[in-house]
Amino acid sequence: MNNDLEQARTIIANGKHVMAFTGAGISVESGIPPFRGENSIWNKYDSQNLDIDFFMSHPERSWPVIKEIFYNFMDGGAKPNAAHLALAQMEAEGRLECVVTQNIDDLHQQAGSKKVYEFHGTARRVVCTKCSYVSPVREADISAEVPRCPHCGALLKPDFVFFGESIPMAAYQKSFDAAEIADVCIIVGSTGEVMPACLVPLKAKQHGAKIIEINPTDSEFTHKITDIHLKGKAGDIFKQLYSHV
Ligand code: NAD
Repeated sequence: MNNDLEQARTIIANGKHVMAFTGAGISVESGIPPFRGENSIWNKYDSQNLDIDFFMSHPERSWPVIKEIFYNFMDGGAKPNAAHLALAQMEAEGRLECVVTQNIDDLHQQAGSKKVYEFHGTARRVVCTKCSYVSPVREADISAEVPRCPHCGALLKPDFVFFGESIPMAAYQKSFDAAEIADVCIIVGSTGEVMPACLVPLKAKQHGAKIIEINPTDSEFTHKITDIHLKGKAGDIFKQLYSHV
């Protein structure tokens, strides 16, 4: 592990275009559970609540679950942890170009990261399913069982990607553009099972990037593309890594 840490430091320090690709695992130490694995969201809730067709036809069933999964954590004060903060600092110091995240929890931005490509959108905003109303969730009234648009009365929806929806075009394009030029890609806390997000690090690898993975367990990436696997929790690993990066 010490040798791996040393190598990872050197690779990151020598990188000209370093990117990070993050998944739910980076936010676990902030108290937000991942979708899969131990203590995960899908062990407790039915994933159909985040299917767009189900949501549109049964919002009275999906919305309470969505509030419990996502908004209780955010309003309950989930804070960026050492991993989010390290990535923000690396960017501020010019050592990291961008973060491509699958997360919708806003913790990279709260940590101070500026260039964050939210591949799956964000829970920070709600949008109307009919008109052009968009609002920060904190300014919108989502207290009703089924929150409604204050302009047209149609169903409100969190501005993240539900199963069955497409990826926001701008985030998609910028993520793959970053992967094409990256010479280092740091994957943090992702199973690599979610398509098409998992193609971003694969693209970076195809274009010659070194892949450093931070995850306590193996993922779909580990035996396919990872050059150095730093096994451990994201916050712990970044604390060890960052003091030397
Ligand atoms: P996932 O839930 O499928 O897997 C989580 C991964 O994180 C696993 O590989 C696990 O081993 C690892 N992990 C667990 N604890 C960790 C820690 N302390 N440090 C580092 N790694 C740790 O996550 P995913 O692959 O990102 O995929 C699924 C989807 O889940 C994404 O679309 C994402 O939007 C969504 N999601 C987001 C949040 C959030 O915004 N915080 C939470 C849950 C799910």
